[in-house]
Amino acid sequence: MAHLTFLGAAKTVTGSQYLVETDSARVMVDCGMFQGEKPLRQRNWADPEYDPARVEALVLTHTHLDHIGRVPRLVKQGFRGPIWCTPATRELAEILLLDAAHLQKEDAEYLNRKQLTSHEPALPLFDEADVQEALALFRTVPLGEERAVAKGVSFSFRDAGHLLGAASAEVTLRNGRTTRILFSGDVGRFGAVLTKDPELAANADYLVVESTYGNRAHPPVAVVDQLEGVLARTFARGGVLLIPAFAVGRAQQMIFLMDQLVNEGRMRPFPIHIDSPMAVDATRIYANHPEAHRVSLEGIGGRSLLYGKWVHLHRTRAESEALNAMKGPGVIISSSGMLTGGRILHHCRVRLPHAENTLLITGYQAAGTLGRALLDGARVVRIHKGEVAVLAEVRDLKGLSGHADGAEMLRWLSGVTAPPRMVFVTHGEEDAAQALGARITKERGFPTHVPDLGETAELL
Ligand SMILES: [Zn+2]
Repeated sequence: MAHLTFLGAAKTVTGSQYLVETDSARVMVDCGMFQGEKPLRQRNWADPEYDPARVEALVLTHTHLDHIGRVPRLVKQGFRGPIWCTPATRELAEILLLDAAHLQKEDAEYLNRKQLTSHEPALPLFDEADVQEALALFRTVPLGEERAVAKGVSFSFRDAGHLLGAASAEVTLRNGRTTRILFSGDVGRFGAVLTKDPELAANADYLVVESTYGNRAHPPVAVVDQLEGVLARTFARGGVLLIPAFAVGRAQQMIFLMDQLVNEGRMRPFPIHIDSPMAVDATRIYANHPEAHRVSLEGIGGRSLLYGKWVHLHRTRAESEALNAMKGPGVIISSSGMLTGGRILHHCRVRLPHAENTLLITGYQAAGTLGRALLDGARVVRIHKGEVAVLAEVRDLKGLSGHADGAEMLRWLSGVTAPPRMVFVTHGEEDAAQALGARITKERGFPTHVPDLGETAELL
Protein backbone atom coordinates (compact mmCIF):
# COMPACT_ATOMS: atom_id res chain seq x y z
CA MET A 1 0.00 0.00 0.00
CA ALA A 2 1.26 3.48 -0.86
CA HIS A 3 0.15 6.91 0.28
CA LEU A 4 0.52 10.48 -0.94
CA THR A 5 0.22 13.34 1.56
CA PHE A 6 -0.29 16.96 0.51
CA LEU A 7 1.86 18.98 2.93
CA GLY A 8 1.66 22.28 1.05
CA ALA A 9 0.31 24.09 -2.03
CA ALA A 10 -3.12 22.60 -1.29
CA LYS A 11 -5.83 25.16 -2.10
CA THR A 12 -3.07 27.77 -2.15
CA VAL A 13 -0.19 28.65 -4.48
CA THR A 14 2.82 28.37 -2.21
CA GLY A 15 4.53 25.87 0.09
CA SER A 16 4.74 22.96 -2.40
CA GLN A 17 5.52 19.73 -0.55
CA TYR A 18 4.36 16.17 -1.14
CA LEU A 19 5.24 13.01 0.78
CA VAL A 20 5.11 9.63 -0.97
CA GLU A 21 5.15 6.64 1.39
CA THR A 22 5.26 2.93 0.65
CA ASP A 23 5.65 -0.01 3.08
CA SER A 24 9.41 0.31 2.67
CA ALA A 25 10.23 3.89 1.70
CA ARG A 26 9.48 7.60 2.17
CA VAL A 27 10.32 10.13 -0.52
CA MET A 28 9.43 13.82 -0.60
CA VAL A 29 8.81 15.99 -3.65
CA ASP A 30 9.55 19.71 -3.15
CA CYS A 31 9.88 21.49 0.19
CA GLY A 32 8.74 25.03 -0.47
CA MET A 33 8.14 28.10 1.59
CA PHE A 34 4.65 29.42 2.27
CA GLN A 35 4.48 33.03 1.08
CA GLY A 36 1.88 35.79 1.23
CA GLU A 37 -0.42 36.64 4.14
CA LYS A 38 0.83 36.17 7.70
CA PRO A 39 -1.22 33.04 8.60
CA LEU A 40 0.33 31.31 5.58
CA ARG A 41 3.85 32.46 6.43
CA GLN A 42 3.46 31.20 9.99
CA ARG A 43 3.10 27.68 8.61
CA ASN A 44 6.81 27.83 7.75
CA TRP A 45 7.48 27.61 11.48
CA ALA A 46 5.11 24.73 12.25
CA ASP A 47 6.58 21.43 13.44
CA PRO A 48 6.47 18.82 10.65
CA GLU A 49 3.70 16.18 10.74
CA TYR A 50 6.31 13.54 9.78
CA ASP A 51 9.80 12.69 11.00
CA PRO A 52 12.28 14.44 8.64
CA ALA A 53 15.02 11.97 9.67
CA ARG A 54 12.94 9.10 8.26
CA VAL A 55 12.47 10.67 4.82
CA GLU A 56 15.03 8.97 2.60
CA ALA A 57 15.23 11.34 -0.36
CA LEU A 58 13.96 14.69 -1.57
CA VAL A 59 13.25 15.52 -5.21
CA LEU A 60 13.10 19.21 -6.20
CA THR A 61 11.21 20.28 -9.33
CA HIS A 62 12.76 23.76 -9.56
CA THR A 63 14.39 26.55 -7.69
CA HIS A 64 11.61 29.06 -6.87
CA LEU A 65 11.40 29.57 -3.11
CA ASP A 66 7.85 28.26 -2.91
CA HIS A 67 9.37 24.91 -3.99
CA ILE A 68 12.75 24.88 -2.18
CA GLY A 69 12.48 27.53 0.57
CA ARG A 70 12.06 25.14 3.50
CA VAL A 71 14.89 22.79 2.46
CA PRO A 72 17.50 24.27 4.88
CA ARG A 73 14.98 23.96 7.70
CA LEU A 74 14.22 20.34 6.76
CA VAL A 75 17.93 19.56 7.02
CA LYS A 76 18.13 21.38 10.36
CA GLN A 77 15.23 19.21 11.55
CA GLY A 78 17.14 16.00 10.79
CA PHE A 79 16.73 15.16 7.11
CA ARG A 80 19.98 13.58 5.84
CA GLY A 81 19.07 12.00 2.50
CA PRO A 82 20.16 13.10 -0.94
CA ILE A 83 18.38 16.10 -2.52
CA TRP A 84 17.85 15.43 -6.22
CA CYS A 85 17.48 18.17 -8.83
CA THR A 86 18.65 19.16 -12.32
CA PRO A 87 22.17 20.65 -12.69
CA ALA A 88 20.83 24.17 -13.41
CA THR A 89 18.50 23.98 -10.40
CA ARG A 90 21.49 23.16 -8.18
CA GLU A 91 23.38 26.24 -9.40
CA LEU A 92 20.41 28.59 -9.08
CA ALA A 93 19.39 27.14 -5.69
CA GLU A 94 22.73 28.16 -4.24
CA ILE A 95 22.31 31.86 -5.05
CA LEU A 96 18.59 31.93 -4.22
CA LEU A 97 18.88 30.18 -0.84
CA LEU A 98 21.88 32.28 0.21
CA ASP A 99 20.00 35.42 -0.77
CA ALA A 100 16.92 34.25 1.16
CA ALA A 101 19.06 33.60 4.26
CA HIS A 102 20.52 37.10 3.93
CA LEU A 103 17.10 38.76 3.56
CA GLN A 104 15.69 36.86 6.55
CA LYS A 105 18.62 37.94 8.67
CA GLU A 106 18.01 41.57 7.71
CA ASP A 107 14.26 41.27 8.38
CA ALA A 108 14.83 39.70 11.81
CA GLU A 109 17.35 42.40 12.72
CA TYR A 110 14.93 45.10 11.63
CA LEU A 111 12.04 43.62 13.67
CA ASN A 112 14.25 43.28 16.74
CA ARG A 113 15.57 46.81 16.40
CA LYS A 114 12.06 48.23 16.08
CA GLN A 115 10.71 45.82 18.72
CA LEU A 116 7.96 44.86 16.28
CA THR A 117 8.01 41.18 17.12
CA SER A 118 6.02 39.06 19.54
CA HIS A 119 8.76 36.40 19.35
CA GLU A 120 11.65 37.43 21.54
CA PRO A 121 13.90 37.83 19.64
CA ALA A 122 12.73 37.45 16.00
CA LEU A 123 14.70 34.67 14.27
CA PRO A 124 15.41 33.88 10.63
CA LEU A 125 13.87 30.62 9.35
CA PHE A 126 17.40 29.54 8.42
CA ASP A 127 20.84 31.08 8.14
CA GLU A 128 23.79 30.80 5.77
CA ALA A 129 25.28 27.83 7.66
CA ASP A 130 21.96 25.95 7.31
CA VAL A 131 22.00 26.66 3.56
CA GLN A 132 25.57 25.32 3.24
CA GLU A 133 24.61 22.14 5.09
CA ALA A 134 21.65 21.64 2.77
CA LEU A 135 23.70 22.33 -0.38
CA ALA A 136 26.11 19.57 0.62
CA LEU A 137 23.26 17.06 0.20
CA PHE A 138 22.35 18.15 -3.36
CA ARG A 139 22.80 15.57 -6.17
CA THR A 140 22.14 16.41 -9.78
CA VAL A 141 20.54 14.33 -12.51
CA PRO A 142 19.96 15.43 -16.13
CA LEU A 143 16.49 15.42 -17.69
CA GLY A 144 15.28 11.98 -18.77
CA GLU A 145 17.63 9.83 -16.69
CA GLU A 146 16.06 7.49 -14.17
CA ARG A 147 17.53 7.30 -10.66
CA ALA A 148 16.71 4.89 -7.84
CA VAL A 149 16.26 6.98 -4.68
CA ALA A 150 14.91 4.55 -2.08
CA LYS A 151 13.90 0.89 -1.87
CA GLY A 152 11.40 0.34 -4.70
CA VAL A 153 11.28 4.06 -5.62
CA SER A 154 12.84 5.72 -8.66
CA PHE A 155 12.21 8.94 -10.55
CA SER A 156 13.13 10.90 -13.66
CA PHE A 157 12.78 14.54 -14.71
CA ARG A 158 10.93 15.93 -17.75
CA ASP A 159 11.41 19.51 -19.03
CA ALA A 160 8.67 21.74 -17.59
CA GLY A 161 9.69 25.03 -19.30
CA HIS A 162 8.82 27.70 -16.69
CA LEU A 163 12.37 28.55 -15.53
CA LEU A 164 15.91 27.42 -16.24
CA GLY A 165 16.28 23.92 -14.73
CA ALA A 166 12.55 23.45 -14.04
CA ALA A 167 11.21 19.92 -14.37
CA SER A 168 8.22 17.69 -13.82
CA ALA A 169 9.06 14.65 -11.68
CA GLU A 170 7.87 11.19 -12.69
CA VAL A 171 8.05 8.95 -9.62
CA THR A 172 7.79 5.17 -10.02
CA LEU A 173 6.93 2.85 -7.14
CA ARG A 174 7.74 -0.86 -7.55
CA ASN A 175 6.11 -2.73 -4.74
CA GLY A 176 4.94 -6.00 -6.24
CA ARG A 177 3.10 -3.82 -8.77
CA THR A 178 4.22 -0.65 -10.53
CA THR A 179 2.60 2.70 -9.73
CA ARG A 180 3.54 5.91 -11.53
CA ILE A 181 2.92 9.40 -10.14
CA LEU A 182 3.65 12.42 -12.31
CA PHE A 183 4.20 15.67 -10.41
CA SER A 184 3.84 18.54 -12.88
CA GLY A 185 5.96 21.01 -10.89
CA ASP A 186 5.28 24.47 -12.31
CA VAL A 187 4.38 24.16 -15.99
CA GLY A 188 5.61 26.98 -18.23
CA ARG A 189 3.86 28.58 -21.17
CA PHE A 190 4.02 27.39 -24.77
CA GLY A 191 5.88 29.94 -26.92
CA ALA A 192 7.38 31.73 -23.90
CA VAL A 193 10.32 34.12 -24.10
CA LEU A 194 13.62 32.23 -23.68
CA THR A 195 12.28 29.08 -21.92
CA LYS A 196 11.46 26.01 -23.99
CA ASP A 197 7.95 24.66 -24.34
CA PRO A 198 7.10 22.21 -21.55
CA GLU A 199 7.42 18.54 -22.48
CA LEU A 200 3.89 17.10 -22.64
CA ALA A 201 2.73 14.98 -19.72
CA ALA A 202 3.15 11.21 -19.93
CA ASN A 203 0.77 8.44 -18.89
CA ALA A 204 0.72 7.84 -15.15
CA ASP A 205 -1.53 6.21 -12.58
CA TYR A 206 -1.75 9.50 -10.69
CA LEU A 207 -1.04 13.07 -11.68
CA VAL A 208 -0.43 16.03 -9.39
CA VAL A 209 -0.95 19.17 -11.47
CA GLU A 210 -0.46 22.84 -10.73
CA SER A 211 -3.33 25.29 -11.25
CA THR A 212 -1.86 28.78 -10.60
CA TYR A 213 -3.79 30.19 -13.60
CA GLY A 214 -6.16 27.23 -13.93
CA ASN A 215 -9.20 29.50 -14.23
CA ARG A 216 -7.60 32.09 -16.53
CA ALA A 217 -6.69 32.61 -20.16
CA HIS A 218 -3.55 34.60 -20.94
CA PRO A 219 -4.44 37.10 -23.69
CA PRO A 220 -2.35 36.72 -26.85
CA VAL A 221 0.11 39.65 -26.82
CA ALA A 222 3.41 40.20 -28.58
CA VAL A 223 5.74 41.06 -25.71
CA VAL A 224 8.53 42.29 -27.95
CA ASP A 225 6.25 44.80 -29.74
CA GLN A 226 5.07 46.29 -26.44
CA LEU A 227 8.67 46.60 -25.28
CA GLU A 228 9.72 48.29 -28.51
CA GLY A 229 6.98 50.91 -28.07
CA VAL A 230 8.01 51.68 -24.49
CA LEU A 231 11.71 51.90 -25.35
CA ALA A 232 11.14 54.12 -28.40
CA ARG A 233 8.90 56.53 -26.49
CA THR A 234 11.28 56.77 -23.52
CA PHE A 235 14.38 57.25 -25.66
CA ALA A 236 12.65 59.91 -27.80
CA ARG A 237 12.25 61.89 -24.58
CA GLY A 238 15.93 61.31 -23.76
CA GLY A 239 14.84 59.21 -20.78
CA VAL A 240 16.00 56.12 -18.94
CA LEU A 241 13.91 52.95 -18.80
CA LEU A 242 13.88 51.48 -15.31
CA ILE A 243 12.92 47.82 -15.08
CA PRO A 244 12.31 46.15 -11.72
CA ALA A 245 12.81 42.44 -12.41
CA PHE A 246 13.24 39.26 -10.43
CA ALA A 247 16.98 38.50 -10.66
CA VAL A 248 16.51 34.91 -11.83
CA GLY A 249 14.58 34.44 -15.05
CA ARG A 250 12.87 37.75 -15.64
CA ALA A 251 16.11 39.79 -15.86
CA GLN A 252 17.52 37.38 -18.48
CA GLN A 253 14.28 37.44 -20.48
CA MET A 254 14.48 41.23 -20.61
CA ILE A 255 18.08 41.19 -21.89
CA PHE A 256 17.10 38.61 -24.47
CA LEU A 257 14.13 40.67 -25.73
CA MET A 258 16.19 43.85 -26.01
CA ASP A 259 18.95 42.01 -27.84
CA GLN A 260 16.32 40.72 -30.25
CA LEU A 261 15.09 44.26 -31.01
CA VAL A 262 18.63 45.43 -31.77
CA ASN A 263 19.51 42.29 -33.75
CA GLU A 264 16.43 42.58 -35.95
CA GLY A 265 17.36 46.20 -36.72
CA ARG A 266 14.25 47.54 -35.03
CA MET A 267 16.27 49.67 -32.61
CA ARG A 268 19.74 51.17 -32.54
CA PRO A 269 21.96 49.66 -29.82
CA PHE A 270 21.60 51.19 -26.34
CA PRO A 271 23.30 50.50 -23.02
CA ILE A 272 21.66 47.95 -20.68
CA HIS A 273 22.81 48.09 -17.07
CA ILE A 274 22.18 45.06 -14.84
CA ASP A 275 22.42 46.44 -11.31
CA SER A 276 22.05 43.44 -8.99
CA PRO A 277 24.76 41.05 -7.80
CA MET A 278 22.24 38.19 -7.81
CA ALA A 279 21.10 38.98 -11.37
CA VAL A 280 24.76 39.04 -12.45
CA ASP A 281 25.27 35.57 -10.95
CA ALA A 282 22.03 34.25 -12.41
CA THR A 283 22.93 35.63 -15.85
CA ARG A 284 26.23 33.73 -15.70
CA ILE A 285 24.33 30.50 -14.90
CA TYR A 286 21.89 31.14 -17.78
CA ALA A 287 24.81 31.67 -20.14
CA ASN A 288 26.37 28.38 -18.95
CA HIS A 289 23.30 26.38 -20.01
CA PRO A 290 22.75 27.29 -23.70
CA GLU A 291 21.12 23.88 -24.32
CA ALA A 292 18.31 24.64 -21.90
CA HIS A 293 16.84 27.59 -23.77
CA ARG A 294 14.46 27.92 -26.70
CA VAL A 295 17.12 29.59 -28.82
CA SER A 296 20.86 29.44 -28.71
CA LEU A 297 22.28 32.24 -26.60
CA GLU A 298 25.58 32.07 -28.45
CA GLY A 299 26.37 35.43 -30.00
CA ILE A 300 29.17 36.34 -32.40
CA GLY A 301 32.43 34.63 -31.43
CA GLY A 302 30.67 32.13 -29.18
CA ARG A 303 30.00 34.76 -26.53
CA SER A 304 26.60 34.53 -24.91
CA LEU A 305 24.36 37.37 -25.99
CA LEU A 306 23.49 37.80 -22.33
CA TYR A 307 27.00 39.26 -22.10
CA GLY A 308 26.71 41.37 -25.26
CA LYS A 309 28.91 44.45 -25.50
CA TRP A 310 25.97 46.69 -24.63
CA VAL A 311 25.23 44.78 -21.43
CA HIS A 312 27.00 46.20 -18.37
CA LEU A 313 27.03 44.19 -15.15
CA HIS A 314 27.28 45.95 -11.80
CA ARG A 315 28.03 44.29 -8.50
CA THR A 316 29.29 46.99 -6.16
CA ARG A 317 27.39 49.77 -4.45
CA ALA A 318 29.76 52.34 -5.98
CA GLU A 319 28.95 51.09 -9.49
CA SER A 320 25.27 51.27 -8.64
CA GLU A 321 25.53 54.85 -7.38
CA ALA A 322 27.48 55.88 -10.48
CA LEU A 323 24.37 55.05 -12.53
CA ASN A 324 22.58 58.01 -10.91
CA ALA A 325 24.47 60.33 -13.29
CA MET A 326 23.57 58.35 -16.39
CA LYS A 327 21.60 60.20 -19.08
CA GLY A 328 19.22 58.51 -21.51
CA PRO A 329 18.91 56.64 -23.73
CA GLY A 330 19.63 53.66 -21.51
CA VAL A 331 18.09 50.86 -19.48
CA ILE A 332 18.60 49.89 -15.83
CA ILE A 333 17.43 46.43 -14.71
CA SER A 334 17.45 45.87 -10.97
CA SER A 335 15.53 44.01 -8.26
CA SER A 336 13.34 43.35 -6.39
CA GLY A 337 10.66 42.76 -8.99
CA MET A 338 7.83 44.04 -6.77
CA LEU A 339 9.87 47.01 -5.47
CA THR A 340 9.78 45.60 -1.95
CA GLY A 341 13.49 46.26 -1.38
CA GLY A 342 16.88 46.25 -3.07
CA ARG A 343 18.71 48.69 -5.30
CA ILE A 344 15.71 49.37 -7.53
CA LEU A 345 14.36 51.63 -4.77
CA HIS A 346 17.36 53.96 -5.07
CA HIS A 347 16.87 54.15 -8.82
CA CYS A 348 13.16 54.89 -8.33
CA ARG A 349 14.01 57.73 -5.98
CA VAL A 350 16.34 59.22 -8.62
CA ARG A 351 14.27 58.54 -11.76
CA LEU A 352 10.57 58.69 -10.88
CA PRO A 353 10.44 62.50 -10.36
CA HIS A 354 11.43 63.11 -14.01
CA ALA A 355 8.88 62.92 -16.81
CA GLU A 356 11.32 61.72 -19.48
CA ASN A 357 11.85 58.38 -17.69
CA THR A 358 9.70 55.23 -17.66
CA LEU A 359 9.19 52.55 -15.02
CA LEU A 360 8.32 49.24 -16.67
CA ILE A 361 6.68 46.61 -14.45
CA THR A 362 7.35 43.08 -15.74
CA GLY A 363 5.58 40.72 -13.37
CA TYR A 364 2.81 40.17 -10.87
CA GLN A 365 2.58 42.88 -8.16
CA ALA A 366 1.06 41.71 -4.88
CA ALA A 367 -1.38 43.92 -3.00
CA GLY A 368 0.38 46.29 -0.60
CA THR A 369 3.65 46.51 -2.56
CA LEU A 370 5.13 49.72 -3.99
CA GLY A 371 4.89 48.16 -7.45
CA ARG A 372 1.14 47.69 -7.02
CA ALA A 373 0.71 51.31 -5.81
CA LEU A 374 2.61 52.67 -8.84
CA LEU A 375 0.63 50.49 -11.26
CA ASP A 376 -2.57 51.77 -9.66
CA GLY A 377 -1.49 55.31 -10.55
CA ALA A 378 -0.01 56.73 -7.31
CA ARG A 379 1.44 60.19 -8.02
CA VAL A 380 3.38 60.42 -4.74
CA VAL A 381 5.01 57.41 -3.04
CA ARG A 382 7.16 56.90 0.03
CA ILE A 383 10.62 55.44 -0.53
CA HIS A 384 13.18 55.17 2.30
CA LYS A 385 11.08 57.43 4.52
CA GLY A 386 10.95 60.23 1.94
CA GLU A 387 8.17 61.36 -0.37
CA VAL A 388 8.86 60.88 -4.07
CA ALA A 389 6.77 62.55 -6.77
CA VAL A 390 5.96 60.27 -9.68
CA LEU A 391 6.23 62.18 -12.97
CA ALA A 392 7.77 59.31 -14.93
CA GLU A 393 5.60 57.14 -17.17
CA VAL A 394 4.59 53.85 -15.51
CA ARG A 395 3.83 50.86 -17.75
CA ASP A 396 3.04 47.19 -17.37
CA LEU A 397 4.64 44.69 -19.78
CA LYS A 398 2.08 41.94 -20.31
CA GLY A 399 2.50 38.38 -21.49
CA LEU A 400 5.56 37.28 -19.51
CA SER A 401 3.77 34.96 -17.06
CA GLY A 402 5.83 31.88 -16.23
CA HIS A 403 2.76 29.66 -15.78
CA ALA A 404 0.56 27.88 -18.29
CA ASP A 405 -3.07 29.04 -18.27
CA GLY A 406 -6.08 26.68 -18.23
CA ALA A 407 -5.94 25.91 -21.95
CA GLU A 408 -2.17 25.36 -21.83
CA MET A 409 -2.55 22.94 -18.90
CA LEU A 410 -5.01 20.97 -21.07
CA ARG A 411 -2.47 21.08 -23.89
CA TRP A 412 0.19 19.76 -21.50
CA LEU A 413 -2.21 16.97 -20.49
CA SER A 414 -2.76 16.06 -24.16
CA GLY A 415 0.29 13.81 -23.76
CA VAL A 416 -1.78 11.57 -21.45
CA THR A 417 -3.53 8.95 -23.59
CA ALA A 418 -4.66 6.47 -20.92
CA PRO A 419 -6.97 7.78 -18.19
CA PRO A 420 -5.19 8.09 -14.84
CA ARG A 421 -6.82 6.81 -11.66
CA MET A 422 -6.88 10.35 -10.31
CA VAL A 423 -5.64 13.85 -11.14
CA PHE A 424 -4.90 15.81 -7.98
CA VAL A 425 -5.11 19.57 -8.61
CA THR A 426 -2.80 21.64 -6.40
CA HIS A 427 -0.70 24.84 -6.43
CA GLY A 428 -3.60 27.23 -7.03
CA GLU A 429 -6.14 29.19 -5.04
CA GLU A 430 -9.18 27.02 -4.42
CA ASP A 431 -11.36 28.50 -7.19
CA ALA A 432 -8.53 28.17 -9.74
CA ALA A 433 -7.91 24.56 -8.68
CA GLN A 434 -11.62 23.63 -8.78
CA ALA A 435 -12.05 25.29 -12.17
CA LEU A 436 -9.10 23.44 -13.70
CA GLY A 437 -10.29 20.15 -12.15
CA ALA A 438 -13.77 20.60 -13.61
CA ARG A 439 -12.32 21.45 -16.99
CA ILE A 440 -10.05 18.38 -17.02
CA THR A 441 -13.03 16.15 -16.17
CA LYS A 442 -15.23 17.80 -18.80
CA GLU A 443 -12.70 17.82 -21.64
CA ARG A 444 -10.76 14.62 -20.89
CA GLY A 445 -13.11 12.60 -18.69
CA PHE A 446 -10.41 12.11 -16.02
CA PRO A 447 -11.42 11.99 -12.34
CA THR A 448 -10.04 14.99 -10.42
CA HIS A 449 -9.72 15.99 -6.80
CA VAL A 450 -8.61 19.19 -5.05
CA PRO A 451 -6.94 18.01 -1.83
CA ASP A 452 -6.93 19.81 1.51
CA LEU A 453 -3.73 20.75 3.28
CA GLY A 454 -2.54 17.70 5.22
CA GLU A 455 -4.84 15.29 3.35
CA THR A 456 -3.52 11.80 2.63
CA ALA A 457 -4.62 9.85 -0.43
CA GLU A 458 -4.30 6.09 -0.73
CA LEU A 459 -2.55 5.02 -3.95
CA LEU A 460 -3.69 1.70 -5.39
ZN1 LIG B 1 7.89 28.28 -10.03
